[in-house]
Amino acid sequence: MAAEPQFHSLPVVTLDGHSGSGKSTLAQRLAEKLGWSYLDSGAWYRALTWAVLEANGDTCNAQVVLDTLSSIQIESDVHGQVLVNGVLLGNELRSATIDQMVSNVADHVNVRTALNQRMRQMLHKPGVSGLVADGRDAGTVIFPDAALLVFVQVPLAVRAARRQAQNERKGIDSNLRSITTALADRDARDAARGDAAPHITARSRLLDNSKQTVEEAIGCLLTWTGQTQV
Ligand code: C5P
Repeated sequence: MAAEPQFHSLPVVTLDGHSGSGKSTLAQRLAEKLGWSYLDSGAWYRALTWAVLEANGDTCNAQVVLDTLSSIQIESDVHGQVLVNGVLLGNELRSATIDQMVSNVADHVNVRTALNQRMRQMLHKPGVSGLVADGRDAGTVIFPDAALLVFVQVPLAVRAARRQAQNERKGIDSNLRSITTALADRDARDAARGDAAPHITARSRLLDNSKQTVEEAIGCLLTWTGQTQV
């Protein structure tokens, strides 16, 4: 079923793509350049997962996850960092446990609907003049009437090689084959989510983020943003 357009007054640009496509870096930089807020939808799923685990809840139980969501205040700051009940969450959202459990939370259709509604409320937060949102379904489901929908494309092999180089810079020993398998598994789980699976629509602009530098990609996004007269 196609998503209902959510007409909103502030300009929104969305960047969707697979895990490791570099969309978060681009979305964050673009938001800075435009003086808008950044919304990292993956971080919201991670924060909700964190809240369920903090309450010793079962991430596979949709009602437990929905009840947790109803019981917390969740929002993000202009930089895309998520706050739960006013507490800023950072590295705790990137733990191996959250990596493992977050897909359980993201698989629940009712949870997605409720979390999407909370994310849309960011447009009504005082001081927000525009939003750059990224994720798997930021443009297709969360903000389908965004002024500009971008799909960030990078082949699996390039994403894996970049992740390995990133790990090496952090001093983490990592194996290319296991990184490739983990990314492919995540892609498969994302692909099984129907309308919420990462996909290109008739309105999407395709950004090939495999060869260009971040600055070149940002230049391209700024041009497209200007063309939409947001
Ligand atoms: O992008 P990131 O890895 O932080 O996303 C965390 C998890 O949230 C992933 O499992 C991803 O599939 C899920 N997610 C989602 N929809 C989004 C953003 C992220 O299902 N819009």
